Amino acid sequence: MFSAKSYDREYFNKSNETYKHELTYYDASLNSHTATLAQGFDGVCVFVNDDLAKETISKIADGGIKVIALRCAGFNNVDLAAAHDHSIKVVRVPAYSPQAVAEHAAALILTLNRKTHKAYNRVRENNFSLEKLTGFNLYGKTVGVIGTGTIGAAFCRIMLGFGCKVIAYDIFESDALKQEGVEYVGLEKLFELSDIISLHCPLTPETRHLIDKNAFAKMKKGVMVINTGRGALIDTTDAIKALKEEKLGYLGIDVYEQETNIFFRDLSEIIMQDEIFARLMTFPNVLVTAHQAFFTGEALEQIANVTLKNCSDFENNSPLENEVKFNG
Ligand code: NAD
Repeated sequence: MFSAKSYDREYFNKSNETYKHELTYYDASLNSHTATLAQGFDGVCVFVNDDLAKETISKIADGGIKVIALRCAGFNNVDLAAAHDHSIKVVRVPAYSPQAVAEHAAALILTLNRKTHKAYNRVRENNFSLEKLTGFNLYGKTVGVIGTGTIGAAFCRIMLGFGCKVIAYDIFESDALKQEGVEYVGLEKLFELSDIISLHCPLTPETRHLIDKNAFAKMKKGVMVINTGRGALIDTTDAIKALKEEKLGYLGIDVYEQETNIFFRDLSEIIMQDEIFARLMTFPNVLVTAHQAFFTGEALEQIANVTLKNCSDFENNSPLENEVKFNG
């Protein structure tokens, strides 16, 4: 297991009491330089920022790897064609507590809107002033949801609960959500009508930089954009421009395009080299969390159980219900 943190070890060790695989944990992330660490194992278990490009896959294949077990839902970091060429199976955890991510998106909205992060600090310094803490009611606002799969659907239901009008865009429309009050619209209409836009689609060549200067141009002035999907759904440079022009009123992101070299580690004593990230940190209306939307006990338990079951299914030649297939 690459990129293994203390919480991975804790939850996987517990779940492995049932599945009884031989687990070896590495702090290092998997990339073409560390691929040799996988030599002699049957499978690798990886997370969102491990780099399984063609070169890495070729090296782990040479080392005997037969299965890549992603302990996450997204698989944009895996070259599926290369895995296919080397007859390596790819399995993932398609849904682990979608509520965890949906609830975090709601937390970003509430924090940005009601400025609870600022209020917390003020009150601790005996500053009880309400100056500049004005928020807005969510009730009655229009929320645009892009991607209404498992997480997007959970998020729609939360926002319906707040009394918001929920509009959505997806290449597949959900009848169940329509019945619950979600209205599907075209992407342009969603940009035009939404007070808040939340991204829950996967990162694909079609969705890369879905939110760019053209999209911002169509949005309402002061719009709030929330991204718990993948960083590259947003063109961050364009977002910074839109923030400077005060077109983008609030930006809440749990994912960042260049997060690979930043997130999941303590860099508090290191000089930040990423100028774009550093600029983002200067805006009072930007809130960044470091890819923690999934991070609940319930989700970690499910991730460990499903990942280890995926490995057992592979070992036993059982059907791989969570296989990511190459459609080449
Ligand atoms: P899902 O597959 O259930 O749903 C994705 C939805 O997006 C589907 O309904 C699909 O039809 C839709 N979609 C695909 N292409 C689209 C397009 N071009 N335009 C609009 N919609 C499109 O996936 P999910 O479990 O809901 O997860 C969504 C994404 O959230 C994942 O791909 C992953 O990148 C991200 N995620 C982030 C975290 C986190 O901790 N921040 C955790 C889990 C997942």
